[in-house]
Amino acid sequence: MIIVMKPKTPAIEIQRISEEINCWNNIVAEKSTGKHQVVIGLIGDTTELEPSRVGVLSPFIEKVVRIEKPFKRASREFRHGESSIVSVNTPQGIVDFGQDCPIVHIAGPCSVENEQMIVETAQKIKQAGAQFLRGGAYKPRTSPYAFQGHGEKALEFLATARQETGLGIVTEVMNVSDLEKIAEVTDIIQIGARNMQNYSLLKKAGCQSKPVLLKRGMCATIKEWLLAAEYIIAAGNPNVILCERGVRSFDNQYTRNILDIAVIPVLRTLTHLPIVVDPSHGTGKAEYVPAMAKAAIAAGADSLMIEVHPNPAKALSDGPQSLKPEQYQELMQEMLAVSQVADYRAKSANQSTILTAV
Ligand code: PEP
Ligand code: MN
Repeated sequence: MIIVMKPKTPAIEIQRISEEINCWNNIVAEKSTGKHQVVIGLIGDTTELEPSRVGVLSPFIEKVVRIEKPFKRASREFRHGESSIVSVNTPQGIVDFGQDCPIVHIAGPCSVENEQMIVETAQKIKQAGAQFLRGGAYKPRTSPYAFQGHGEKALEFLATARQETGLGIVTEVMNVSDLEKIAEVTDIIQIGARNMQNYSLLKKAGCQSKPVLLKRGMCATIKEWLLAAEYIIAAGNPNVILCERGVRSFDNQYTRNILDIAVIPVLRTLTHLPIVVDPSHGTGKAEYVPAMAKAAIAAGADSLMIEVHPNPAKALSDGPQSLKPEQYQELMQEMLAVSQVADYRAKSANQSTILTAV
């Protein structure tokens, strides 16, 4: 953080400010004199320092500029420019999410509707090469009259699907009070777009050990999203996976959201955390999902999360954006082809699983 002093600030005032800063915990003031202005650098950990708090130190302060990122632990610098790997335990072994790891495939219905459909979907996506089954037990719906999810019953169905197939499970938590029972069943806890800024939920998710898939809020800036990740990490859980799922914009006539593919290279420069892309919520229409899934891979996504339903026409939620299992299987082949052309992770073990799965 730096303080830029106004021109002609008396030397004694600069001295006074520097002395005050030197009394703060582990922060040292370093003066640098330019032709017209003096700049005071604050050396040390300024994460918890508000620029506005520093600005009121003196009427001679022109501005206070934060140089380091406000999301310290989520920032790429925190890992000295390296990407981190989030390792997830599944019944079939550890699956790693990260820039240098094989692409991880997550698929499944929007909601867990009954035991048969979730087990059948799990078997089909496993056959196609996926490592994780997704499915909501607690659903955040815009209308209170829409299907809200089967809750605890659905968690039992997910546990059965996990046992039958060995796939890892990803399911959403909406409420702090449900966190414990969801964490017992799931391998990754999903925090949805609508809860990205539910700070009590983020803190609670940070106090337990299951990895957290943090979806981008529908109107969230990249900075707000990374600060939400910072909440989880600062509370003690470093295993955060980011999920781009599209943002709201002025035009929702043809797509549900705007899937921000550019966020992938941008995040790479800002954070060490793994990046998942969800083209299903990103577009809202099954016919657009394959193109955006392949675009995400070409742009360097670490993982894809895609909604798959055995009978989309009868789905209780998000049917129009869900692929049929056969469409998913075909898309997996295409995604593999894209990753090979882009030379990403082409020789990985998971990719050969996809090749031999069909
Ligand atoms: C979902 O994954 O089904 C979901 C509700 O996603 P989002 O929070 O991105 O809307
Ligand atoms: Mn959905």
